[in-house]
Amino acid sequence: MLAVVPTPVTVRAPAKVNLHLAVGDLRADGYHDLTTLFQSLSLTDEVTVAVADEAGLDVRGEGAESVPTDSSNLVWKAVRALAAHVGRDPDEPKLRITINKGIPVAGGMAGGSADAAATLVALAHLWRLEMGRDELATVAAELGSDVPFVLQGGLALGTGRGEQLVPVLSRHTYHWVIALDSGGLSTPEVYRELDRLRADGNPPRVGAVEPVLEALASGDPNQLALLLGNDLQAAAVSLRPGLRRTLRAGVNAGALAGIVSGSGPTCAFLCSDGDAAVRVAAELSGAGVCRTVRVAQGPVAGARVITGDDAA
Ligand code: ATP
Repeated sequence: MLAVVPTPVTVRAPAKVNLHLAVGDLRADGYHDLTTLFQSLSLTDEVTVAVADEAGLDVRGEGAESVPTDSSNLVWKAVRALAAHVGRDPDEPKLRITINKGIPVAGGMAGGSADAAATLVALAHLWRLEMGRDELATVAAELGSDVPFVLQGGLALGTGRGEQLVPVLSRHTYHWVIALDSGGLSTPEVYRELDRLRADGNPPRVGAVEPVLEALASGDPNQLALLLGNDLQAAAVSLRPGLRRTLRAGVNAGALAGIVSGSGPTCAFLCSDGDAAVRVAAELSGAGVCRTVRVAQGPVAGARVITGDDAA
């Protein structure tokens, strides 16, 4: 009898922007405590996992050439972590994985984390695992501090290294313009630069998170714009001084506020509505301060199956 080959599963997972990112001092174990508000965005990666005769990874789309296809890719780490969690052989049956990138690579938008989260959801489907989202989230946390959030999506308050999440209810949609830089920034390097800036002086720190939560509850983007804050921004700008010009250009183009996304160098501009975002994007793309621009909105759903058997 012929073995039944399962239908390939495609999962879409979102990028994130940190509306508020408070970074604590360097801990003895080398990590920093974070208090952060994540919002998922409609910039997405799609990961397809198929059973195949030969294992392999193909990466296409935005910045694909700078993504490793060997075992260091987070999708393979996700395969190994989930297989270990459920006691399966990660190499049998062989898997062919395709990543379609819409999230900038090394842009501070959790692109690799989105691919890891998407792979977990795809495998749970392909392997027909009876696993709830909470159990999947524990495996996600082993893979990186942003992975649980992109798995969950929406809006959430993150503490610890950002992986301890409390969902935040939101009935409002926010409109963004995302400015992609020509290169990436390494997240560990940006943290090291922040430690250096703090050792040299006392760069300003973001305030408390509660007013940001109140602004989100109001749904007024003008109120939220005044409170966007990121402790990593000074470090990202110090490493990439041109970002100052990008941030200014977005506000001059009509955005309510601009912020470096996570560790950068992507900049995110909050706009008053969808039409304003289209206008800001058009003007910013003509300003010559960034490689390209995208319009996005958030919050959106977390990693979810879009094609495969019983796609939800
Ligand atoms: P974060 O915001 O979570 O700190 P980031 O968005 O700045 O991350 P990523 O796009 O996740 O950065 O990429 C960081 C590095 O991880 C890349 O330079 C690349 O070498 C490596 N990497 C491993 N797997 C992937 C993947 N699937 N997609 C993108 N990069 C990956």
